[in-house]
Amino acid sequence: MPKPLNVFTKDTLTRKELFYIKKNVSRENFATWLTDNFRAIRCYHAGRPIDLTTYFEHGLRPNNLNQALESFHNFLKTVNYVGKIDVQETVELFKGKSDRFVYVILDKYDFIDQAPHYWIYGSEFMLCLAQNTAYHLKDDLKKIGTPTIFTCDLPFDLINNSELISLYDRIKDTNGTFNQMLNDIFSNYTIIIENNISPHCIIAHEHPTERVQDFHAGGYYQNSMVYCEACQPS
Ligand SMILES: [Zn+2]
Repeated sequence: MPKPLNVFTKDTLTRKELFYIKKNVSRENFATWLTDNFRAIRCYHAGRPIDLTTYFEHGLRPNNLNQALESFHNFLKTVNYVGKIDVQETVELFKGKSDRFVYVILDKYDFIDQAPHYWIYGSEFMLCLAQNTAYHLKDDLKKIGTPTIFTCDLPFDLINNSELISLYDRIKDTNGTFNQMLNDIFSNYTIIIENNISPHCIIAHEHPTERVQDFHAGGYYQNSMVYCEACQPS
């Protein structure tokens, strides 16, 4: 059988495919059906990287907590913070999670209306470190890095089949208009990858400029950095 070319995405899933799955694909065969028909699944990851070239060279990797701590200490120096620093509680909280997994979601719009904090403040590890050190420090996180959403096409061999089961359950359970169904299926869906995501999987990136609610500070936030070095028009 020739390798499929299409990518499974919220934007391109057809009504016909959706109803085909509902009627004809079993829970046990869903992962196989996906790999037989699609070469990858479209996912999104957001952050506030200081240096985007590391993403284009190394892809998306689990957080290196020691490196992140070093960046945090450098950040404290740049904002001239001289108070008490206690990182232990945050390190314990994130150990075994963000240093082991990469988290991606299936609906890009979730980064606008539900979870913009990933690109407003950067990683949850940094945000937690900042908040636990001194509450006002999180405002300074908004001054470093470039708000970015990465679009990735992940081949299915990177994904544990168990990560796809809820997707199947959502497809089976959803009703209503086609758009409602697409939202029910794709919104608020996280896939956990226990691996690096190769740079070849990153097919696009953007710097969101929508005015979004800043749930951590109250009020609104709007990014004005439209380009990074990599996408700056010449
Ligand atoms: Zn860019």
